[in-house]
Amino acid sequence: MHAIAAGACAVLLCGVCHAQAREIAVDVGHYLDRPGVISAGGIPEFEFNRRLALQVRDALERRGHRVRMIGERGDMRELAARPRAAAGADLFVSIHHDSVRERYLPVAHEFSGYSLFVSRQNPHLERGLACASAIGSAMRAAGFAPSLYHADPERGGNRPFADRDNGVHFYDNLAVARTEVLPALLFEAGVIVNREEEVRLARPETQQAIAAAIAEGVTRCLN
Ligand SMILES: [Zn+2]
Repeated sequence: MHAIAAGACAVLLCGVCHAQAREIAVDVGHYLDRPGVISAGGIPEFEFNRRLALQVRDALERRGHRVRMIGERGDMRELAARPRAAAGADLFVSIHHDSVRERYLPVAHEFSGYSLFVSRQNPHLERGLACASAIGSAMRAAGFAPSLYHADPERGGNRPFADRDNGVHFYDNLAVARTEVLPALLFEAGVIVNREEEVRLARPETQQAIAAAIAEGVTRCLN
């Protein structure tokens, strides 16, 4: 009896899911001429960002969302053009991979984990922060840990916590996050100047797990 009731609910919920499909702009951080951080193994960040962003697209589409890819061809030089290209979407998610301050590069193995950033200059902060927290929460549930060092004035950039448990920071001047066009967040998947973490992040199964967590968080916060 319970099984039948649960089945009926599942059918109804499925209809609701499709009705609440959203459009998400997935931004590939950096571009070919200035590809961001160079990993411990010598691979440009842009390559990591593009591979993960394509997995994020697939994971979101599997959940019934529409995805608008931004900067995936590697020719988007103007930062402000990115959120503009996302106008009309429900959320802007910028995909990046992290580094450390130059003087900490010799001990980069001490730095690891994901982080999320939102801007208090974005008029849709409440929605952007809710999504960042939901993604961070889904990342933790999938076994990933927040990096936390960006809040440290010495080891990081003194970026205050917006949600410490879920690894979310305020970064008010961040160009792609402070846009007025739509709710926005920046996601750092992990620290690629840490060789061990780089090897982990280069594995398709790690990328798929991260993409699934992002899709889970986005679906939760936008519905
Ligand atoms: Zn970056």
